[in-house]
Amino acid sequence: MLSIKQLRAHYGTSQALFDINLSIEAGQVATLLGRNGMGKTTTIHSVMGIVKPTGGTVTFEGVSLVGLPSFKIANLGIGLVPEGRQIFPNLTVRENLVATASNHLGLDQPWSSERILAMFPELATRLSSMGNLLSGGEQQMLAIGRALMTNPRLLILDEATEGLAPLVRKRIWEALDNIRQTGLSILVVDKNLKDLMRLADKHHIVQRGEVVWSGSSAALAADRDALSNYLGV
Ligand code: ATP
Repeated sequence: MLSIKQLRAHYGTSQALFDINLSIEAGQVATLLGRNGMGKTTTIHSVMGIVKPTGGTVTFEGVSLVGLPSFKIANLGIGLVPEGRQIFPNLTVRENLVATASNHLGLDQPWSSERILAMFPELATRLSSMGNLLSGGEQQMLAIGRALMTNPRLLILDEATEGLAPLVRKRIWEALDNIRQTGLSILVVDKNLKDLMRLADKHHIVQRGEVVWSGSSAALAADRDALSNYLGV
């Protein structure tokens, strides 16, 4: 579904990505792991057209994404839940949900506000509240809902549970598990390795702008060297 080959990216003269190679199959949950500053967000931003790659290829369902504007990439079926949520602060919960609603791919059972509220009943009681008045957990639920309202085939979450209390984190992992059961592919960045190992089919570790390790949860659990060298656990 998504294929990234020899991806390179720079910020000015400083190179952030050297050699990112990974692929995600339809229906798969994949992770990008790695310490801070290793290039996970830059990889995601390169897929979404927020950062312009300086080398390599990114293809989604056979279409090259390099050089396309972000809105076109979104219309092709990739939904982003960005780091820091970036909820529209002066729109209500309801308005945040409908602001980006679309079904460009003509999916049979599109996401609707009702479906999002059934998954996150916490939001149902806050429909008229402004985005900036929500708690961090409510904002993250709304950010996930907003991305789903674009009816993507691939959902990308950057720092899915950053700064959230354990109970709220649990709600987010449950929701992602439900979402994966609808057949959506998911690429997730997060620091909670235990939760990610339960949820994901495949992991990719990024170290100084390169994917240095890829494999299943079982393979990662068994690879003490990878865990300690790349993830410090
Ligand atoms: P984190 O978990 O801290 O977000 P990350 O793995 O997502 O880390 P990136 O944010 O992709 O890493 O950063 C990769 C490298 O690019 C780092 O060295 C970082 O300092 C640098 N970098 C990121 N954004 C910018 C920017 N806007 N301008 C200049 N350098 C940047």
